[in-house]
Amino acid sequence: MDVVDVGNEDDWTYPPFSGHIEGNKLYGRGSTDMKSGLVAMVIALIELKEAGTPIKGTVKLLATVGEEIGQLGAEQLTNESYADDLDALIIGEPSNYTVVYTHMGSINYTVFSPGKEAHSSMPQEGYNSIIHLNKFITKINEAMEEVTAAYSNKELGRTIHNITIINGGNQVNSIPNRASLQANIRSIPEFQNDKIIALLEKTIDELNEGEPFKLQLTITQSKNAVGSNKKSSLIDVIQKQFEKPLPLLGIAATTDVAEFIKAKSDFDFVIFGPGVITLPHKVDEYVEIDNYLDMIEKYKAIAKDYLA
Ligand SMILES: [Zn+2]
Repeated sequence: MDVVDVGNEDDWTYPPFSGHIEGNKLYGRGSTDMKSGLVAMVIALIELKEAGTPIKGTVKLLATVGEEIGQLGAEQLTNESYADDLDALIIGEPSNYTVVYTHMGSINYTVFSPGKEAHSSMPQEGYNSIIHLNKFITKINEAMEEVTAAYSNKELGRTIHNITIINGGNQVNSIPNRASLQANIRSIPEFQNDKIIALLEKTIDELNEGEPFKLQLTITQSKNAVGSNKKSSLIDVIQKQFEKPLPLLGIAATTDVAEFIKAKSDFDFVIFGPGVITLPHKVDEYVEIDNYLDMIEKYKAIAKDYLA
């Protein structure tokens, strides 16, 4: 299963793949995000099987590759019908004794702006790709600000749009014939990805009207925002395992649910796993060992009670 890059190994207090244990913490890349969740599920299933625990139904382990680079494994498993018979789904991403029932969507897009090279003293001979791209930046920022003002979600907040990469030109005294940008959007259920993509397309079409060189939009990733029933029987069963009810949350990050939700079944889901929500992708990532061991017991109890 995939993990993200360790970055600069020298920044780590302990080697990132050593699994070094210090007190109650196990350090390593992937310890929180989300190998502890994955292994806790595997061990829970093995122990349920070994104990001969009677279960009325089927518990499936869906281990997904490529989650960090577009949820490719979840997409494949969904396409191959592995999620079509689900009643409930637990994603073992780190939630540290909270229950996440909704999260934002994500869109990555690229805009390429072609142009025509010319000497910078004679711009009329060329077509400046940066100026055309700049018009897009102004227009899309205004349009997305309107979306942000108009729609909000109680748990997730408002749509987030950021242009994050920009490239263009190659010589200071030449009119540039190419420029491009990349941007990321975090979406909410109230203004889903299809509406955002339509807005991007409309903005591009308006700017291209009458222009000899056309802006080109590419959507490189689109994952919808997802939400589950806050009062589902799955959440009831989870809460039953604890003396005090766990907080129910929404998060900005996307998960494999964004793919599994496309399956034929209509199922409840939560993100509920060992690990610390703020640690993924950071140096000195760790998991608290007692949290990890406890989650094995919790997964077993949840499976048993849900299918009682
Ligand atoms: Zn991650």
